[in-house]
Amino acid sequence: MKQSGQVRAKKHLGQHFLNSENIANHIVKSLVEKCHTPHVLEIGPGMGVLTQLLLDHSQFETHAIDIDKESIVYLNEKFPNLTPRLHEGDFLHMKLSDIVTPPFSIIGNFPYNISSQIIFKIIECRDEVPLMVGMFQKEVAERLTAKPRSKAYGILSVLTEAFYDVEYLFTVDEHVFTPPPKVKSAVIRMVRKPEEPEVSQKALFHVVKVAFNQRRKKLRNALQSFGINDEILQQEGCIDKRAEELSLKEFISLTKLIMTHGKTVN
Ligand code: SAH
Repeated sequence: MKQSGQVRAKKHLGQHFLNSENIANHIVKSLVEKCHTPHVLEIGPGMGVLTQLLLDHSQFETHAIDIDKESIVYLNEKFPNLTPRLHEGDFLHMKLSDIVTPPFSIIGNFPYNISSQIIFKIIECRDEVPLMVGMFQKEVAERLTAKPRSKAYGILSVLTEAFYDVEYLFTVDEHVFTPPPKVKSAVIRMVRKPEEPEVSQKALFHVVKVAFNQRRKKLRNALQSFGINDEILQQEGCIDKRAEELSLKEFISLTKLIMTHGKTVN
């Protein structure tokens, strides 16, 4: 077997290895202080900078999944105890409960090329995932924590807020990575909300997506395809508003309204 002193950073896998133990400690601590699950799943361990620290904690069992065979070989050598819980595969296409018993928390310095897909996968698996701490590119972290009427506010902000409380923890400079990415990064924490919105997730997603598809248009135009009349939109006070001005709460009432008065949302 190849002696793996290092894993070669592969651009197409979004590999930027964190080289600051201090920041790694900070990330793991941000998970540990809120973690009540018996299992933690790390996505994209790479060369194991977070994994090493996770394995020091005995209150949960650490599992990890990486798509890169070279990383897997490297980690198996470095942490032989992790081997039964180290998986090679694509996080996005894996049924997570097949590799780790729910509930579990998620941690990772995520590959930036698939950030939104990672968030949507976590939302989809929210019944199994009460906590997530992760590093994204700063711009995505800002979108996740954006408030209405800001430039960063959009689909990702509303849909994540529907199920999780999201905190922007800290910004990370590009120079603490090898190779350095082109953009700054940020660590966020998502804690699942105790209650889900009282509206179908599918319908909410549909309305939010359609509304933001034409984010500059007033809602009376952007939502035309749902066939709700202006009077009802007027009553809700959103006829002259744009998607970017609506809070999650307003999106939820709008979705209920569309389900009652509009064309079926499917
Ligand atoms: N956590 C490490 C590595 C971060 S780089 C560190 O902080 O240094 C991102 C990692 O995600 C890489 O190891 C890459 O191989 C892995 N990765 C990329 N796409 C993935 C996917 N779809 N599923 C699982 N892992 C993936």
